[in-house]
Amino acid sequence: MAPFAWPDGHRAALSLTFDVDAESAILAVDPGYAGRLSTMSHQAYGPKVGVPRILRMLERTGLSATFFVPGLTADLHPAVVEAVLAGGHELGHHGHSHVPYHRMTDDEQRRDIERAFASLERASGGVRPEGFRAPWWELTNSTPAILAEFGLAWDSSLMDDDHPYLLDTGGGLLAELPVHWMLDDWEQYAYLPEPNIGAAIESPAKVLDLWGSELEALAGEGGLMVHTSHPFLSGRASRVATLERLVEHARGLGGIWIAPAGEIAAHVRSAIPAEEARPVNPVEIEEDVYGG
Ligand SMILES: [Zn+2]
Repeated sequence: MAPFAWPDGHRAALSLTFDVDAESAILAVDPGYAGRLSTMSHQAYGPKVGVPRILRMLERTGLSATFFVPGLTADLHPAVVEAVLAGGHELGHHGHSHVPYHRMTDDEQRRDIERAFASLERASGGVRPEGFRAPWWELTNSTPAILAEFGLAWDSSLMDDDHPYLLDTGGGLLAELPVHWMLDDWEQYAYLPEPNIGAAIESPAKVLDLWGSELEALAGEGGLMVHTSHPFLSGRASRVATLERLVEHARGLGGIWIAPAGEIAAHVRSAIPAEEARPVNPVEIEEDVYGG
């Protein structure tokens, strides 16, 4: 297979993405947590302190990034949407409630997507995101075609590659920018006594080694590293410093295009011919395989 052609002589790409889940990630588990002030404060740290600190780091390093903001976060913290856009960054769609889409019917998915568009447009003064990331990275077999119905141009939720590709949804094309748990801060830093969101508080030095190693290897193969952070986790001081070191490392390696996901998706849509789009391939199993 020919290597993917990155623009301007670059050999690989890195996108920094931030999922501003805030309260929604916990309320999607159980809305009863709305009554627990301390738990909610752990989540509100993201928009209140994490995002401003991340924005300062991005300004220092001269980078633009993508912020996936659930509609509920935009409703509860509209100033965070304004700050992201004022910093010159991209706004992405991340559902409204953060309830995973496999718990919804197709029409419930459509309502959640529509409600988030309305909240994001209200908070942003009319900005309509072109890219989507599924809550918990959980697309269902029908979600890609639903995204195309809404005119979305790209997605970043699937894990079957580490190069970008075009996805033929059956109702239109999406650029897909694949993700992976290894390149997500959640597995490194997520800890709460309850609900169980994880029990990890890793050393940033260890995390930098993990992410830096994957970056080096992917750069050697002309790949795309989509990095995912959650400001309620990665907005802590030493963790933002670690992200800044990752950026310095990428620059030291040379030839890596660091860009918001939407810019990478636009390149993917122009560089890959439509006939090379990959179909959405639901797993189909003969009835008797699992004891039918
Ligand atoms: Zn999320």
